[in-house]
Amino acid sequence: MTHADVDGVAVPTGHLIGGEWVGSPTTFESRSPIDWDAMHLADIARGDDAAAAAAVGAAVDGFATWGSFTVHERAEVLHRLADLIDENTDEIAHVETLDMGFLEASMKARLVGRGALNFRTYADLIVAHEERTWNAKAMWNTVQRMPAGPAVVITPWNAPFMLATWKLAPALAAGNSIIHKPAEWSPLSAALLAGLTLEAGFPPGAYNLVQGIGSEVGDALVRDPRVRRITFTGSPPTARKIGEAAARNIVPFTAELGGKGPLLVFADCDLDAAAKKAAWQFDDSGQVCLAGTRLLVDESIRDEFLERFHAHADALVVGDPRDASTEIAPLAHPDHRDRVHAFVERARAAGDTIVRGGQPMTDSMHYEPTLIEPASNDSEVVQSEIFGPVLTFQTFADEAEAIALANSTAYGLSAIVYTGSRERAERVGRLLRTGLVWVNTFLVRDLTAPFGGCGISGIGREGGDHALEFHADLKTLMIADDTCT
Ligand code: NAD
Repeated sequence: MTHADVDGVAVPTGHLIGGEWVGSPTTFESRSPIDWDAMHLADIARGDDAAAAAAVGAAVDGFATWGSFTVHERAEVLHRLADLIDENTDEIAHVETLDMGFLEASMKARLVGRGALNFRTYADLIVAHEERTWNAKAMWNTVQRMPAGPAVVITPWNAPFMLATWKLAPALAAGNSIIHKPAEWSPLSAALLAGLTLEAGFPPGAYNLVQGIGSEVGDALVRDPRVRRITFTGSPPTARKIGEAAARNIVPFTAELGGKGPLLVFADCDLDAAAKKAAWQFDDSGQVCLAGTRLLVDESIRDEFLERFHAHADALVVGDPRDASTEIAPLAHPDHRDRVHAFVERARAAGDTIVRGGQPMTDSMHYEPTLIEPASNDSEVVQSEIFGPVLTFQTFADEAEAIALANSTAYGLSAIVYTGSRERAERVGRLLRTGLVWVNTFLVRDLTAPFGGCGISGIGREGGDHALEFHADLKTLMIADDTCT
């Protein structure tokens, strides 16, 4: 059987290699965090070395065709795929919700559409791109962009559909064939997306999907010397392994990794807006790399901030992610719930103060929205990414201390600042060592703006032309003046 019936939606269970669905000798299970024991969703092909080699071989063949398409031909296919995504919004949203517990209303209202927009944006960018030509040193110089070759795209289990589209769109727009390896905890929306590419008009082998376990088929993919680009979103430990494989084959590699974002609240801000946004960091049960998980608050407004924060946190609706009223969804996997709880237990044992929450909720995969006041800035819960609904609370005496605390972890993905002063916004914004800073807002980003992290939050930048540059080999063509007509 090549498809599973997932609550009425036919989801492919195999790999898509060279335009055909194929299986593997073994499978792995997809279960729903909505009811882990009762809801078995599908058995998915568990890719091995043979599947990886076949997918890269197909991508080499697919590149020969797709890489020679004109930018207009590529753009047409990408626009068609975007339209197909829009037409299948309900199915994609529902399957993603069942598979990893993402709020279905958010999927429908925001994330599926954002996925389609990623393809439209890159279709338009690649067509609008102009080559630079100038005369110097008695030569006409032109910078050409060559598609690089097969690209491996490896994505994580949180927000799997949207995060995959944002890496796949620039790779394909640039003319590279791709092999997508989604996370084993949430493989289903990637299978639906791959199915749509068959209708969009990609030549066989341009778009390949390999399912399976990271340390197995993921490892085999990144070690294949025929691969010419690797783009990865996930955790720093995995990035180190992939980086080693990329170095061995001398392949450019980008990594979008974890975060431990500060949320700074200055006394001159709209305090209720700040407290509300702070409580909103529990959204998606904190399984958000960009989340402002370290609340850093001016000590002069400590009590008022906490009172408002608790009021907003108390109002959050915990429930079934299929219900439109639910705001706090379950964690994606029992192993992850146990990992989150282990952080909290270690914090408790180390003398940190659990201000609210701190327990798994009975009979479900939900975890209580938790706030911890650490004993010191060195506490593990301050320094390590937890990736669950666990925030820390610290105060600062002045702006200098706020910035020092904000910059005091090894991460550097994003920061959120609440202030009423434009001058402070510019000043603090410049001093924060992160790839992104939001002031009095959060999460919204224009797709052409650069995206990425400093420190162990990543290597390289995505977004707009930055991702297109990564997926191309630049060439300078130099023609001596007056030598040809
Ligand atoms: P992970 O590193 O465990 O896995 C990510 C992907 O890598 C999965 O597809 C996995 O199968 C694959 N993988 C694992 N081992 C591999 C190997 N040896 N070779 C090749 N592939 C391998 O991360 P995760 O737990 O799935 O995702 C959560 C992490 O991702 C968090 O740290 C989170 O902050 C981060 N994240 C970052 C961003 C961003 O844009 N910066 C976005 C979302 C998530």
